[in-house]
Amino acid sequence: MHELSIAMSIVEMAQEEALHSSYEMACDDTPLRGSRLVIEDVPVVIFCPHCKAQRPLSSIQLFCCAECGTPTSEIVHGKELEVVALEIQ
Ligand SMILES: [Zn+2]
Repeated sequence: MHELSIAMSIVEMAQEEALHSSYEMACDDTPLRGSRLVIEDVPVVIFCPHCKAQRPLSSIQLFCCAECGTPTSEIVHGKELEVVALEIQ
């Protein structure tokens, strides 16, 4: 499992870097050229049908309640994609 967590960290870093690169390309030839993208990770929270409560996710691969291990696909938080702030100087 340790190797899996290392691999997941590498994938996460690669995805974030790919997003930064895509953002830079999308901003090219626009007034946002040279702007900086800051990504804030939001932890995934699911609704557990067994606990009947919102719970953190045990693992992104298993998608189970961290408290009781019940599988669920009902995501409460963690799918958000929103612009929180835009600073202009
Ligand atoms: Zn649960």
